[in-house]
Amino acid sequence: MMTMDRREFLKSTGMGLAGLIVLPETINHSEIASEDAYGILYDAKACIGCRECESACKGRRDIPTINEPELDADNWTIIKLYQEDNNQSVYSFIKRNCMHCIDPACVSACPVGAMQKTPEGPVIYDETICIGCRYCMAACPFDIPKYEWEEVFPRVQKCDMCADRIAEGKHPACVEACKIGALKFGRRSDMLAEAHERIESDPVNYVDKVYGENEVGGTSVLIISKVAHDKLGLPVLTSSSLPSLTWPWMKAVPGVAVVVATLMTFLYWITGRKLKVAVQEESINDSNQS
Ligand code: SF4
Ligand code: SF4
Ligand code: SF4
Repeated sequence: MMTMDRREFLKSTGMGLAGLIVLPETINHSEIASEDAYGILYDAKACIGCRECESACKGRRDIPTINEPELDADNWTIIKLYQEDNNQSVYSFIKRNCMHCIDPACVSACPVGAMQKTPEGPVIYDETICIGCRYCMAACPFDIPKYEWEEVFPRVQKCDMCADRIAEGKHPACVEACKIGALKFGRRSDMLAEAHERIESDPVNYVDKVYGENEVGGTSVLIISKVAHDKLGLPVLTSSSLPSLTWPWMKAVPGVAVVVATLMTFLYWITGRKLKVAVQEESINDSNQS
């Protein structure tokens, strides 16, 4: 398995000494979650858009909340409002975050095993072995992993389903913060059964579909809604898992692609630094002249 530290790697690319990285022949890309794995049910029909879940997610990481965030390195979950163009009384909120796929494409795409599916359900990220190639970002069908572009040593960021809290026997912070029951945590099989029960008990007000039951082979996050899921921005996807498609492609890509991707990150950072220094110098010159 590749063991090179990412910082060392960035240094080596900066000195022009980057060598070729050979992708391993075999790697344990995904441990398929068991039937007992955990999941989260999000009921968009019940959601009132209070955004307490957003705040709880950021509070867990001591990051201040902002208005109308987009999914990025700081914001691992966001609540968006959907309104129909020609009838704004038809609306719904939608919570977006990592779907914790049962057979995740991000895990399959990662050449060093920095993304892993745990048997408990969460898909977690190990920054200590990540080399910054961002294949996980390209592979994710939900456009979830985000990169810390402005950081000196950038990491990939995404919801980890509060794996640390689950290990302590707690519920994810966002679920705990949702006081009206739009979020529910438990065994995925139980969440799936409850999702179908809610739909069957109110078929007029729910779309007859549990999003995540089959998409890309199934996800640990399940979503039910009164508005068609694709209108809420959820992609229409195959029921086949993607790793069977992505890993053969990954193996065909020469290791040099990893080097190029990392070098591009390094150059992006250098360029950004130069711009910032130029702006600071200009501001100092302006204040000296006034
Ligand atoms: S939603 Fe994307 S980031 Fe999350 S587990 Fe699936 S492939 Fe990975
Ligand atoms: S950037 Fe993504 S694909 Fe690359 S090593 Fe890190 S986690 Fe894996
Ligand atoms: S499960 Fe945890 S990390 Fe994921 S959105 Fe909820 S609070 Fe954030």
